Amino acid sequence: MQLGFALWQYIAITLVGANVLYVGVGGAVHWWYYVKNKSNAKRWKIQSSKFLSKKLDREAMWLGLFNMNLASGAFGVIGWGVFEHGWSRLYYDFGSHGWDYTLLSMFLCWLFIETCAFYLHAGGHIGWFYKNIHSIHHRYSAPTFWTISAMHPLEWILHSSYIILPAFIIPMHLYVYGFVVAMTFVLGYWDHCGIKLPRIPLHGSNKFHDDHHKYFHVNFGFTCSLFDRIHNTIRRDGHHYTELSFNGGKGVVKKPEELGSNAVGPVVDY
Ligand SMILES: [Zn+2]
Ligand SMILES: [Zn+2]
Repeated sequence: MQLGFALWQYIAITLVGANVLYVGVGGAVHWWYYVKNKSNAKRWKIQSSKFLSKKLDREAMWLGLFNMNLASGAFGVIGWGVFEHGWSRLYYDFGSHGWDYTLLSMFLCWLFIETCAFYLHAGGHIGWFYKNIHSIHHRYSAPTFWTISAMHPLEWILHSSYIILPAFIIPMHLYVYGFVVAMTFVLGYWDHCGIKLPRIPLHGSNKFHDDHHKYFHVNFGFTCSLFDRIHNTIRRDGHHYTELSFNGGKGVVKKPEELGSNAVGPVVDY
């Protein structure tokens, strides 16, 4: 497929598109809740008594904006390579593969992204990586949507890479890949906005990732809690978590006598 656009046009389209969505749509929702309805926070906010300081909020906005534009520019270059030079393994005709393969490719694309997201994120919570890189994302303990991309630029490049990679590994229809990528951004928004939003089937409540920002080394999954269930890293009731209680998602048991014989509190249901 050749659309006949120049490189700069691809970059311009992705930059304008990303900023309209991130600053325009995201900013409008943010203003409605965090400015206009700030006094009603009990009604709509997950951490209703906690707001980022003005300084941190501004820092998250500028860092998030910088990273989002960095990724959008890169997506523009890749889009140019894909559409003008056939770089990827994406295909454009649904008829060339059956519906069973279309669904399988969507599942594989999601699995690739979720696997990378979980293990790289959990890895980011190991001592050195946390202190030097991932702790920047955790400066925002009451996340707002700006914090989707407010992190160390190297970490942001890493996360963007495994979202781009499936297009070069798994043969997939363009729309299938576009749908999975769009969902990862929607869920990123859902999880970081700090606003009580409806549960999404398979994904669960957006309190799951909000709690990750609140309790730190727990709830590492991105689109779902599957790998946290496998590795037993979901937050548990009665356990105590702080930024310094590195314990593989287990926290510290504060009052074992209240938690029964094995002092393992029940997994919080999201
Ligand atoms: Zn984290
Ligand atoms: Zn986060």
